[in-house]
Amino acid sequence: MLQYPEPANKLIDQLSLLPGIGRKTAQRLAFHILKSDDVYIRNLSDAINNIKKNILFCDKCGIMSVENICHICKDIDRADDIICVVEQPQDIYAFEKTNSFKGEYHVIGGVLSPLDGVGPDDLNLEKLYKRVKVGMEIIIATNPSIEGDTTSLYLAKMLEKLGAKVTRLARGLPVGGDLEYMDELTLARAIEGRTEI
Ligand code: ZN
Repeated sequence: MLQYPEPANKLIDQLSLLPGIGRKTAQRLAFHILKSDDVYIRNLSDAINNIKKNILFCDKCGIMSVENICHICKDIDRADDIICVVEQPQDIYAFEKTNSFKGEYHVIGGVLSPLDGVGPDDLNLEKLYKRVKVGMEIIIATNPSIEGDTTSLYLAKMLEKLGAKVTRLARGLPVGGDLEYMDELTLARAIEGRTEI
């Protein structure tokens, strides 16, 4: 059987490790790169090299940042008595696009999933607990999935013990959907219609 030359295989192997990229798409991308001009290829490889070198995760909330503390946490015009808890840094960008949330965020880095061996110790929860003050509102904005719901119930229990008022995004978001890809209006309505747990 005719094989691709080794350098092509190497790139296809690496690309197919990316989330959502199957072998076929990886092949298509590899051939696209092969046909691209040198400037594009240099820019692409520079961007890949630099993302790890130059991006940090905010010490306080966990969003991507070029400094230890991100611009959202530094912004004195934002309410510091309301925190929106999200699974991944990307979710923050989705909420910011709605322009309807002016509090702070906290990225927990995933959801509880006993089947995958993910327990509370594997999530960024200790830093969250330290941020909670009595009377503060914590909006739990995990994805509308079974694991997201399990995580939100667990968090609600823990955060209530610390004296927080815990709310959850309004029901009605498509189950199994990803907040990151939801449209701004749907997300804005989900924040506005949030309910106490
Ligand atoms: Zn931050």
